[in-house]
Amino acid sequence: VTVELVDMIREYCIAHTNLVVSDLAELCAIPSVSAHAERAAEVLACGELLARKALEAGFHSATLVPTSGNPVLVARHTVDPNLPTVLVYGHYDVQPSGDESLWTSPPFFPTVRDEALWARGVSDDKGHLVMHLKALEAMLRSTGSMPFNVTLVAEGEEEIGSPNFEAFFAANRNLLKADLVVVSDTLGFLNDQPTICTGLRGLLLADVSVTTLASDAHSGLFGGAVRNPAEVLARMMASLKDGTTGRVLIDGFYDDVVSPSSEERASLISLPFDEKGWLASIGSDGPFGEQGWTTLERIWWRPTLEFNSLDSGDAGALVNTVVPSRARARLSCRLVADQSPARVATLLEDALKSLAPSDVKLEVAVRVAGRPVALPSTGPLMDGAGRAIERVFGRAPLPVRMGGSIPPVATFVEAGLPSLLVGVGKEEDNFHAIDEHLDIDRLIDGILLMATLWTELARDLDAMRVPMSQRGDA
Ligand SMILES: [Zn+2]
Repeated sequence: VTVELVDMIREYCIAHTNLVVSDLAELCAIPSVSAHAERAAEVLACGELLARKALEAGFHSATLVPTSGNPVLVARHTVDPNLPTVLVYGHYDVQPSGDESLWTSPPFFPTVRDEALWARGVSDDKGHLVMHLKALEAMLRSTGSMPFNVTLVAEGEEEIGSPNFEAFFAANRNLLKADLVVVSDTLGFLNDQPTICTGLRGLLLADVSVTTLASDAHSGLFGGAVRNPAEVLARMMASLKDGTTGRVLIDGFYDDVVSPSSEERASLISLPFDEKGWLASIGSDGPFGEQGWTTLERIWWRPTLEFNSLDSGDAGALVNTVVPSRARARLSCRLVADQSPARVATLLEDALKSLAPSDVKLEVAVRVAGRPVALPSTGPLMDGAGRAIERVFGRAPLPVRMGGSIPPVATFVEAGLPSLLVGVGKEEDNFHAIDEHLDIDRLIDGILLMATLWTELARDLDAMRVPMSQRGDA
C-alpha cells in the first residue's frame, strides 16, 4: 500500500467524520435485538437500513436473503468476476440492553460524549459493519477504483448463536464465492497493544434434569425415606470435575485437545495482560482453574465445563421444608481445536447416564452451539493483516485467541475459505454490557484499517487464490 493511498483515504475519512458517525448512529437507533422475538420487525428494519447504506456506499447490489429466522444481507461490489473476491462478515443484530435505567444515556438513543458514540451495538457489531461500508466508499471516492470484488455478508442472528447461518451459507454457495473471508466481530487490542485473533472456542449446551417424585413432598413426613433429586444432581455435578485440580473428569474429554507450542506459550507471557485488573473487573479476588495452565491458557487454549445454573425446590420461600420432586442444571462446555463438539456431547451424555442412580428419571438434552476454530498464526494472510494493522496503529499485532464463539467462522473455515479475524474492539467498549461505546478516533482508524487491509491482501491474493474446486461448487 502506498503512503499516498493511505493518506488519501485518511483525509477522506477525517473530512467525512460527521457523516460516518451519523450513519452509525442511525443504525444504532434501531433496537435490533435478536434475542427478543417481539423485536423481529425492528431487526428487519435494521437490515433494510443497512442495505440502503450499503448501496449509498457504492455496493452495486444489496439483498436481504430470507432464512428461517432473520434475513442475511448480501451486498456486492463486483469490479470484474476474474478479480479476487473478499467476503466480509459481520452482524446487524445486537444483545439486549439489560436494565435501561443503568445506562448513562439510553441504549437506543445514540449519543456523542467524551469523543465516543454511546449506544447498544455500536462496537458489537454495527461499528465494524460501518467501517467496511465506509472503507469501500472512501476507496471509490478518493481513488476512483477498487482492486477486487467485495461481498458483504451481515447476519441478524449472531447474538443468538447464528442458528440459520450454516443453512443459509450452504444454500447460497454460488452467491458467496470468495477467495478469502474477513470476519470483523472481535477485539483488536489488549490494552493498547494491537492484536489479531487466531482462535475461538466452540460451545456445547446441556440441560440436565433429575426427577424422583411426582410432586414435592413434606420433608417431615417423607424426608429420609425417599430419594432427593437435589442431592442426586449435586453429587452427579460434583463428579464431573475435580475440585482441586480443576480438571474435567469425563473420560476422553481432553483426547483431541491441541496444546500450545512452547513458542506459543512464551508469546502469551509477553502479552500486556493485566490479570489482577481483569479479575477485579468482575469482583474476583484471584484466579482458579485447571492446574498447570496460566489464566490466558485456560481461557484461550483449554476446554472447560461450567455449571451455569442449578435449581430445585423454592429458593425464594421463607421456609421450604420439602423433598423437591425435581432438580435441574444447565451446563456448558467451551471447547478448543481439535475437539469435536458432537463427540464431546456423547461423552458428556454417557457420563451423566453412568452417574445417575438407576431409580431416578434422568433427562439430558445436549446441543452443539458452535464449533472451535484455530487459524494459522503465520502465512501470507497474517502477514498482510499485520502490515495493515502496523500501518494504521503504528505497532505490529500480536496473535491472541478469544474464549468465546463466533459460529459462522467454523462454517467458513470448514468450507475451505482462508479466514482472517480483524476487529478493532476493546474490552472497555462494554459490548454485551451497559454503556457500550466506541471511540470516534477508533471508528475512523477502523475504516482506514479495513481499506488498507483489503489493499494489502489484494496484492497477495492471486498468489494464494483458493482452487476453483473450493470456491463454492465443491
Ligand atoms: Zn458480535
